[in-house]
Amino acid sequence: MGNSMSSPPRTSAALSELAHRHLWMHFSRLGSYGNDAPVHVIARGEGSYLWDAEGHRLLDGLSGLFTVQVGHGRADLAEAARVQAETLEYFPIWTYAHPPAIELAARLASLAPGDLNRVFFTTGGSEAVESAWKLARQYFRAMGQGQRHKVIARRTAYHGTTLGALAITGIPALRTPFEPLTPGAVHVANTNRRRHAFQDDEKAFMLAVTDEIEERILFEGPETVAAVFLEPVQNAGGCLVPPDGYFARVREICDRYGVLLVSDEVICAFGRLGTMFGCERYHYLPDIITCAKGITSGYSPLGAVICRDFLAEPFLEHRASFAHGITFGGHPVSCAVALANLDVFEREHVLDNVCAHETGFRTRLEELRDLAIVGEVRGAGFFQALEMVPDQASAARFTAEQREELLRGFLLPRFYEAGLIARADDRGDPVVQLAPPLIAGDDELDEIATILRAVLTEATARFCT
Ligand code: PLP
Repeated sequence: MGNSMSSPPRTSAALSELAHRHLWMHFSRLGSYGNDAPVHVIARGEGSYLWDAEGHRLLDGLSGLFTVQVGHGRADLAEAARVQAETLEYFPIWTYAHPPAIELAARLASLAPGDLNRVFFTTGGSEAVESAWKLARQYFRAMGQGQRHKVIARRTAYHGTTLGALAITGIPALRTPFEPLTPGAVHVANTNRRRHAFQDDEKAFMLAVTDEIEERILFEGPETVAAVFLEPVQNAGGCLVPPDGYFARVREICDRYGVLLVSDEVICAFGRLGTMFGCERYHYLPDIITCAKGITSGYSPLGAVICRDFLAEPFLEHRASFAHGITFGGHPVSCAVALANLDVFEREHVLDNVCAHETGFRTRLEELRDLAIVGEVRGAGFFQALEMVPDQASAARFTAEQREELLRGFLLPRFYEAGLIARADDRGDPVVQLAPPLIAGDDELDEIATILRAVLTEATARFCT
């Protein structure tokens, strides 16, 4: 059932039917698609907007998947890919090196804080997380501390799907089907303060959640713990921001026990929080940053593990090497696109745009709190969530059945019809998440707020008590 470039393009219905038959979509309930529930086919993008194969326009309130920082349909990034593909389409960075990977590693080192100077490239986020864990293990082995292999992460946090990264992920529904997972990953409290006993006391809350990290290190035996993996703002659970002082104290705890601090910035790097790296927003220096997604704005796949100098030291010994590599890690086309993407960040002052609009974005979302279904608004930069509750005035929660009906039965289709891609997620409490392209301005933010108000007003009438 091939279709050559010279054949007329398939209709939306034909594409949907083919997808239904052949395409194994990720994290998708394949059985829920059919004649009366077509696969929506996203065909084209420009700036903050997408068009589906039927010509329906959508505001991309999720930047693809927290990825398309500088907007869709850019000729400059496409051109960077074309030029690199014509010059050197592929060569590995095993034993040899090529200019785009070298230039990008140096550029990332110059942008990253402190002595985060050494870059190991991957093709995406899960591989970056997995590589960071492996690096931590081999590093400690080389340092004569081979018992250090465990990692600590937070409940509900998503760190990827490969078996190692999945062990770090703290979401039971994603882990259970694949057990037993890579041993050695354990989980502690996240920073969701709503309904926490200390929700009204920032300092007590911060101490409680960081104490748990220290207690866990002690319980496991510090000599067995390699690293703590944390996102600057935790995505799953709905944009969970750290309380004041959180990362300073985590840094202190990690230093006390010789444990590495890994900042998983697969979402939070490259401007999502208004800073180039998420750790800069919260003023901490991690030992490793894992990143992917926005590094190329999604124009080509790439991930990176950015390490402090000391981590490379044992690997600089004659004949030593990190026993790890990936064929397409640091692909020349992806690295060239990443360099062009970082040029756009500079030329178009992308970080300034996020900083200039963050308050306005947040205010527009806070205004929706006059609707009973909006329990809390939280997040940072262009990364915000609205928690969905049956009654804003109480601590009540929707049941699993109600969440299903609200998120997947009602909100997602209504947002789509109204022309908005947003995330409706209940890996923790149910949330609607918004993460527009970092080039979005007042017009796009107004449109997001208008659509949210219309759809959530209807949802309040249908789902709130
Ligand atoms: N880590 C974090 C914090 C993520 O948000 C994600 C993906 O969303 C990953 C890791 C995995 O990245 P990928 O899907 O590129 O493998």
